[in-house]
Amino acid sequence: MPTLRTLKALHREGLLAVDPRLAEAADAMAIALTPEMLALIDREDSADPIARQFVPSAAETEIAADELLDPIGDEARSPVKGIVHRYPDRVLLKPLHVCPVYCRFCFRREKVGPGGEALSASELDSAIAYIEARPEIWEVILTGGDPLMLAPRRLAKLIAALDAIDHVGVIRIHSRVPIVDPSRVTDELVASLKPHRAALWFAVHCNHPRELAPAAQSALARLADAGIPLMGQTVLLAGVNDEVETLEALMRALVRCRVKPYYLHHPDLVRGTGHFRVPVERGQALMKALRGRLSGLAQPTYVLDVPGGHGKVPIGPGYLGDDPDALLVEDAFGGRHRYPR
Ligand SMILES: *Cc1c(COP(=O)(O)O)cnc(C)c1O
Ligand code: SF4
Repeated sequence: MPTLRTLKALHREGLLAVDPRLAEAADAMAIALTPEMLALIDREDSADPIARQFVPSAAETEIAADELLDPIGDEARSPVKGIVHRYPDRVLLKPLHVCPVYCRFCFRREKVGPGGEALSASELDSAIAYIEARPEIWEVILTGGDPLMLAPRRLAKLIAALDAIDHVGVIRIHSRVPIVDPSRVTDELVASLKPHRAALWFAVHCNHPRELAPAAQSALARLADAGIPLMGQTVLLAGVNDEVETLEALMRALVRCRVKPYYLHHPDLVRGTGHFRVPVERGQALMKALRGRLSGLAQPTYVLDVPGGHGKVPIGPGYLGDDPDALLVEDAFGGRHRYPR
């Protein structure tokens, strides 16, 4: 079965109620639901956490006043097309804007989609030249879109070009492919992820424990068996994973797949995504609950991307209380202890 790409196809699968506002939602962002993700949807559950991520909702047409077209300020930090340079030592490189699925909460919602601005060969050359000319760039993060949507040969060529730049120590790939389209992780693809000199790290985007189905587990195992260090990124999403049991199961499942949870992202102020947003206090309470329940291996850092292009910061929870002559430390089980200043 092919990827579902239209309201009609989703309707045929019984995944959509009829609502005139859906056409507007679908116009604002492309639809893509892979057969692997479709198979995970429980049709009996009208609030299914997998469907919620990929099936358009009328709520997307409700744009709140504080929501932004460029929620994390990428535009302001883009010196050449395809590059975002916010921190001195690392850049994002976005070779294309196509993804295997389109996540309704996407922070690059205004950018991703078929026909999105993929880099031409000469634009990609200019982006690589930008990196080459700046010895302070130690890490290149391939994102998009999803860099694993490049043909393995093109991806290998891009990685070789970055590997040839001596000051680039790390090439990091951010992708959702192993989860949502695991059959793309072929031996040829895995082989393309082998720079000779630089270290390659792989961050996989996964939001619900059910996404780690057997095919996704195998795809991650192929990457890990090839010696590629894996880390996990999760977006905290109302109605998808904003319960401690769900997050706990997700983090355990990731670690079982040899994926080290890296970030739990607070949802960005993306237009039409108010129905996914969770209060920061709720996120902090969830993180606090995870601390007492889960191995340190399975703990992500809860981060906020500060709107306006100011970068990511950890947003807690905190474990230190205030006292004039001692620190008050809260333990993972809620007990409070004094520690000398
Ligand atoms: C998220 C991001 C990074 C990577 O940040 P880390 O904290 O190193 O994961 C780098 N550049 C930009 C522009 C980003 O948005
Ligand atoms: S895969 Fe990533 S970039 Fe693509 S739509 Fe989903 S969140 Fe956005």
